[in-house]
Amino acid sequence: MTDRNRLRIAVQKSGRLCEGSMELLKAIGVKLSIRDRLLIAHATNLPIDLLRVRDDDIPGLVMDGVVDLGFIGENELEEKMLERQAQGKQFQYKTLERLEFGGCRLSLAVPNEMDYQNVQSLQGKKVATTYPFLLERFFREQNVDAKAVMLNGSVEVAPRAGLADAICDLVSTGATLEANGLVEKDVIFRSKAVLIQRSGDMLDSKQQLIDKLLTRINGVMQARE
Ligand code: ATP
Ligand code: ZN
Repeated sequence: MTDRNRLRIAVQKSGRLCEGSMELLKAIGVKLSIRDRLLIAHATNLPIDLLRVRDDDIPGLVMDGVVDLGFIGENELEEKMLERQAQGKQFQYKTLERLEFGGCRLSLAVPNEMDYQNVQSLQGKKVATTYPFLLERFFREQNVDAKAVMLNGSVEVAPRAGLADAICDLVSTGATLEANGLVEKDVIFRSKAVLIQRSGDMLDSKQQLIDKLLTRINGVMQARE
């Protein structure tokens, strides 16, 4: 049951962006009655519905105009934008706010024993990643002829498994890399969570609500500074 007069916001159902997004919504006064496992949660005090999905689905939902707003990591957003651009699909959106959670970096890492001087050392090599479009853009900018090998999981074991020579993965502390005999070499993308809006017309009532939410978000962020 959805109503086009209600603002639809996509949030990650569970994972690293979930807590930050839900906490922020709470801080700006959106009251929810979330029952676990429900795809849709209705706000009880404002005309807002939350769509709780995998983070990978959020950029597409916004770019297809299926939801009005979404909380998403810039890494995932930029990757999906490049992918959709390559496929000739709609890839437009507006960034409303860069947020203070979900910080991480997408980095190149190589096995300890590899002789790595700089990114040119990857010439002719295979690099496992979940972000092939971001990685190939980086290689193009650096004039390196290397190949991105797409893996949705277990990226960090790819070199040991003989699937790739190096990896390009999200890092926050580096503990996972170390545990797998890898060393971080170059950061290719720095990411935080962002709040995005679909492009295209918006009902006045909905745009007014978005503006009100944004004012509150700015207030919360300033208070936390
Ligand atoms: P889903 O089931 O929703 O697809 P997921 O396993 O793809 O979840 P998470 O691990 O929850 O995703 O990460 C979601 C986002 O959190 C990442 O895309 C990134 O923007 C951000 N993030 C912040 N820190 C990290 C980190 N250390 N490792 C991975 N992602 C991080
Ligand atoms: Zn995901």
